[in-house]
Amino acid sequence: MFEAAIAGSLPKPAWLAETQKLWPKWVPEGDALLQAKADATLLWIKAQEDAGLDVIGDGEQARQHFVHGFLEAVEGIDFENKVTMGIRDNRYEAQVPQVVSALRLKGRVHAFEAKFARAHTKRKLKFTLPGPMTIVDTVADRFYGDRVKMAMAFAELLNQEALALQADGVDIVQFDEPAFNVYMKEAADWGVKALERAAQGLTCKTAVHICYGYGIQANIDWKNALGHEWRQYEDVFPALAKSKIDQVSLECFNSHVPMDLIKLLDGKEVMVGVIDVASPEIETAEEVADTIGRALQFVAKERLIPCTNCGLAPMSREVAMAKLKALGDGAALARQRYGL
Ligand code: ZN
Repeated sequence: MFEAAIAGSLPKPAWLAETQKLWPKWVPEGDALLQAKADATLLWIKAQEDAGLDVIGDGEQARQHFVHGFLEAVEGIDFENKVTMGIRDNRYEAQVPQVVSALRLKGRVHAFEAKFARAHTKRKLKFTLPGPMTIVDTVADRFYGDRVKMAMAFAELLNQEALALQADGVDIVQFDEPAFNVYMKEAADWGVKALERAAQGLTCKTAVHICYGYGIQANIDWKNALGHEWRQYEDVFPALAKSKIDQVSLECFNSHVPMDLIKLLDGKEVMVGVIDVASPEIETAEEVADTIGRALQFVAKERLIPCTNCGLAPMSREVAMAKLKALGDGAALARQRYGL
């Protein structure tokens, strides 16, 4: 009960990459870089286990960014000539690669870190991939001319990698779709369909992570403009409830998401965000257990997964470590409080 998990990313140590950046540059090169990625993955597996988490991730230590890490393995994408593009409905600008021809995987994308993580933890292993709609929103299209067509093309590639990850021994494949609460109507219209294509044939658990983004200033400003109640999830949750995806996330701590929206996810496992990623303040175990307690009004305890609101990547390593511990301690306290 209350199997605690992180959303996905964790900060990279200073000897691996620039710190507190969303698109950090790697520090070592060549073989030394591969070794450093493995070392950092090991460090965070140990930290998650020590914190008492039940579901372990690789902390995305082997990829520069949660979307571009996947795109680097895709043929048909020009990484040499990046362009500046407004993403997430122009909330902020990013340097993005361009799709210039038909898409195909060059080979496996995450075999190294998935197999490495599997070999170093006996706990459940969750692995994250970007969702098709979020990919489409983080790349410039010079070929398909149609967002849905391009999303379905990406979904096929994601599906190939997801099936291979399952074969590597991954227990949960999670797709990250922060674009779902930016383009709510499109998400319900075709985003969920593309997501289901990406998850097709998987027999392991499947999850989708939706959020209000990393704790960067552009996201904080956006959230401040969303008013007192954040109801974005209301549009996409009914479509997800009807989908085959097993687990769905929402932000619950320090957010204005009305918690009763969980009722729209009837039958799903719910990743309840109990750790704020926009503040360096460390949650107490009591706060975490309280948030879990509030969510229990709307979801059965055996289907509640305490989770971070989003990835912890841009935070300091010390803060992320302390937040992992708060998550683990809070889940343990909740088991005491609500277990019987
Ligand atoms: Zn997120």
